[in-house]
Amino acid sequence: MTASRLLRTAALAAVPALVAAHAAPVVSTFGPLRNRAMPRLSGRGRPDHIALTFDDGPDPLSTPHFLRLLAGRQVRATFFLLGSEAHRSPGLVREIAAAGHEIGIHGWRHRPLLLRGPRATYDDFARARDTVADITGHRPTLFRPPYGVMSTAAHVAARRVGLTPVLWTCWGEDWTARATPESVHRTVTSDLDGGGTILLHDSDCTSAPGAWRSALGALPRILDTCGQRGYEVGPLRDHGRPQPG
Ligand SMILES: [Zn+2]
Repeated sequence: MTASRLLRTAALAAVPALVAAHAAPVVSTFGPLRNRAMPRLSGRGRPDHIALTFDDGPDPLSTPHFLRLLAGRQVRATFFLLGSEAHRSPGLVREIAAAGHEIGIHGWRHRPLLLRGPRATYDDFARARDTVADITGHRPTLFRPPYGVMSTAAHVAARRVGLTPVLWTCWGEDWTARATPESVHRTVTSDLDGGGTILLHDSDCTSAPGAWRSALGALPRILDTCGQRGYEVGPLRDHGRPQPG
């Protein structure tokens, strides 16, 4: 094979890898496909466990209601905090940590990562991680992208700052104005199976005003249903997710 032919062959061989690199963020946005193709990213864990996760907090108006309810039920969860909101309410962040919940980050600001370049993505992650670490004394290791959409730059930045992205397997559509505790419970539990990860929101900072009340109202019923189906509910750290590699 001549040198130029070799070069051409190598270039052609690289095409599928390039296509895959660009497709990866798109694939990760489609739930059912993602859950099968990327169990670690989608938050699949051990079959007798359900991971309970909250995004968009902390919010001094709403988060304390969730903390009280979870304390009453002796359930711990994972809270994916926005760095900008954590910076505004450091006492509340410490309260979440002191109650034994796990803290991950949801970025500094709630903006789609596909609209950001590599430098801005890295800065956003590092700032959120450092802010939470300064407040709690623990460096977070989990990351959930706003809108659940990762970009290639986000995968690279997350690895550089030591964050593992985790999405979810079911949500409650609790961010809409028409959501009710009944609709949130129904939506979450219709997709719920062992090893799944539930996404709810403990803040309405990106949702319809007061939308968090539907999540709060649904939570006792969701925990009851998990118990009836024999699932233990806890944070992602107890979820037995596959380790890297
Ligand atoms: Zn969010």
